[in-house]
Amino acid sequence: MTKSLYEKCQEEITRCKKLYKGFSDSSPFISSACSAVYEYFKEHPVAPLPAYDKEEAADMIRAGNSLSLNPNLKTRAAVGLLKKLGEVIAKTNPKLKATVNELDEHLDQFLLDSPEEVAKEELFNLRDFLIKETELEEDLATFLFSIMLTSFYRQYLQATSGVLRTDLWERGDCPLCGTKPHYGQLRSEDGAKQLECWLCVTQWLHTRIKCPYCNNTDMEKLGFFTVEDDEKVRVNYCQKCCQYYKIFDARKFHADGGVVLAIHNLASLDYDLLARREGFTPGSGLEWVNKDEIVEAQD
Ligand SMILES: [Zn+2]
Ligand SMILES: [Zn+2]
Repeated sequence: MTKSLYEKCQEEITRCKKLYKGFSDSSPFISSACSAVYEYFKEHPVAPLPAYDKEEAADMIRAGNSLSLNPNLKTRAAVGLLKKLGEVIAKTNPKLKATVNELDEHLDQFLLDSPEEVAKEELFNLRDFLIKETELEEDLATFLFSIMLTSFYRQYLQATSGVLRTDLWERGDCPLCGTKPHYGQLRSEDGAKQLECWLCVTQWLHTRIKCPYCNNTDMEKLGFFTVEDDEKVRVNYCQKCCQYYKIFDARKFHADGGVVLAIHNLASLDYDLLARREGFTPGSGLEWVNKDEIVEAQD
């Protein structure tokens, strides 16, 4: 029997607790959030969009054009899932109850003021607005909105995702939705660098010595760092565009079958902090670090 995504996530959380120091603290919250998403969609199922014409899609990919599928989200559903995740936050961390109440009010207002469907950019604007207007911190806001968005996108786009010729794709952005990745892996079977879209979860191979954001191939300006002797996470950086992304070395996990990289990302946010402190910004645009935590290196 194939495992559901929910089961895979819970298994990955268990694995990551052993792999990443410090993840034990936040793992109960992540686990509850996964359960909340699962419960939400059990009650409110989402229909995938019809698959893109296979030949047409292959032609576009061959020509180096992303399909750039960016469906609107049902406003009520997006708000519904955000509120459900808010409940998890308030339950796990009672100190944040007042913030969650504030959040709920703004979300209700957003629902009243918005059309039936909204583009994902409008939801990013809502995220920024909430950070400005409420006590919601940047890292938690990124968590809330990225989990919400990927939960819808992976379902909306799954019919096309399954037939997409990612083997023809060489660019750094997502062939299916055009999003810039935040992480990837070195595949367990052959060590090849595979990027993954944090939004629609499409995976594709990418040349090791190339920046996915500015296409820089100058070896002198590309590098990665690890922490101490821990080689399962690499922060890949580019000194030309000063951006970074994370690469998980799946050869070090002894994982049989698929790895849920999104969980590894959440388990290794301290690496995002290190990257920010080194002066690199996330090429994905996803800010996982609060500004007051970034203390620039003093000389
Ligand atoms: Zn994508
Ligand atoms: Zn670059």
